[in-house]
Amino acid sequence: MDETLESTLWNIQQRNLGEPEFIQSVKEVLASVGPLLAKYPKFAEQKIIERICEPERQLIFRVPWQDDRGEVHINRGFRVQFNSALGPFKGGLRFHSSVNLSIVKFLGFEQIFKNALTGMPIGGGKGGSDFDPKGRSDDEVMRFCQSFMTELSRHLGEYTDVPAGDIGVGKREIGFLFGQYKRISNRYESSVLTGKGLGYGGALVRTEATGYGLGYFVQQMLAARGESLDGKTTLVSGAGNVAIHAIEKVTQLGGKVVACSDSKGVVYDEAGIDLPTLKRIKEVERLPIESYCQSRKQARYQAGGKLWEIECDVALPCATQNELTGKDADALLRGGCKVVAEGANMPTAPEGIERFINAGIAYAPGKAANAGGVATSALEMQQNASRDAWSFEHTEGKLAHIMKDIHDRCLRTADEFGAPGNYVQGANIEAFTRVAGAMQSLGLI
Ligand code: GLU
Repeated sequence: MDETLESTLWNIQQRNLGEPEFIQSVKEVLASVGPLLAKYPKFAEQKIIERICEPERQLIFRVPWQDDRGEVHINRGFRVQFNSALGPFKGGLRFHSSVNLSIVKFLGFEQIFKNALTGMPIGGGKGGSDFDPKGRSDDEVMRFCQSFMTELSRHLGEYTDVPAGDIGVGKREIGFLFGQYKRISNRYESSVLTGKGLGYGGALVRTEATGYGLGYFVQQMLAARGESLDGKTTLVSGAGNVAIHAIEKVTQLGGKVVACSDSKGVVYDEAGIDLPTLKRIKEVERLPIESYCQSRKQARYQAGGKLWEIECDVALPCATQNELTGKDADALLRGGCKVVAEGANMPTAPEGIERFINAGIAYAPGKAANAGGVATSALEMQQNASRDAWSFEHTEGKLAHIMKDIHDRCLRTADEFGAPGNYVQGANIEAFTRVAGAMQSLGLI
């Protein structure tokens, strides 16, 4: 990073003390855009970096609710409306005990660039709460969602800000949130939220989209190297919505996923992870992954196990931020891994990214590889706006096309800026150019 960018980063750090994840995500982008600023000096003159790194609006609010025994709880709600140059703020809500302003800001910042890469008219934002739906009854989750939306609703709208799900926010939560928004606003404003149930305006493929899109992206990464997924041994971390559908798509495309994980341990199944078993355990029974081995006798479970030490061709981190460390990256490289693509947001720590890039393997950051989820959210908005509902095949075809387009543009831009094969450079420069270009056109706002 050159001196000017270093000093810009230092200023941003001083303005956002105690927000390590946010600074980490800013640093990654700033480390890529040097060549772009050299080519377009107007971006620096117009302080585009300083403007992009400052959210348009940040909301923090109290969320009081009562549990089933009548006890009162107070959680904290967040919505960071980061950038609306390309369209209404768009990005998920995360409900998890780890959520704080730094996490929401890093996610919102990443979302600006991810959404720009999709080529759809959506700005970037993110929100959530330190409320954890795990272990809560449906009634408790409903009361929490109603209280959360009572405050958030005044800041949303199909042309203003359109949330969706993320960790801890799935169909159940989106249903409760939409119900409360509808009640407060007295409007059936379908596209104020995406990831809705199919019975009330949701779109086919949205549930599968992040994981499926990741599978298509990996297929393109391999094709660019003259290879295919056929027979490739694959590791997937996580066992949530993204991981499950990544496993499904990779398997359909010929790969063999031999291991996945949850926060408690790792499951290894030499014959390939059995999807019906995994789906039953995680989506229906909501049990820890350990119980997978009761149905699949040859599978092994290791409590607190080290997933990335298993030999593989392809690694797909689909759990959460900074789950893959420098040491994990070393282990993957030792085990012969040639392709890493991120299903989660910022799952690879900076030291891990450095190892992958230095080793010259194909490494795709989440803002490119997992953009299929939000892209399909934008397709849901399109269907809502035209009061239409597309078939699964039609929507999945569009998703596959979008992922190929993102992949090809990242590679082309990386090439153009002297970093062939570097998806980080390609994604950051391509996305930054689009957002900065729109901001220039809109004037000083
Ligand atoms: N939370 C997802 C993401 O990280 C999806 C956001 C959306 O669909 O708006 O991209």
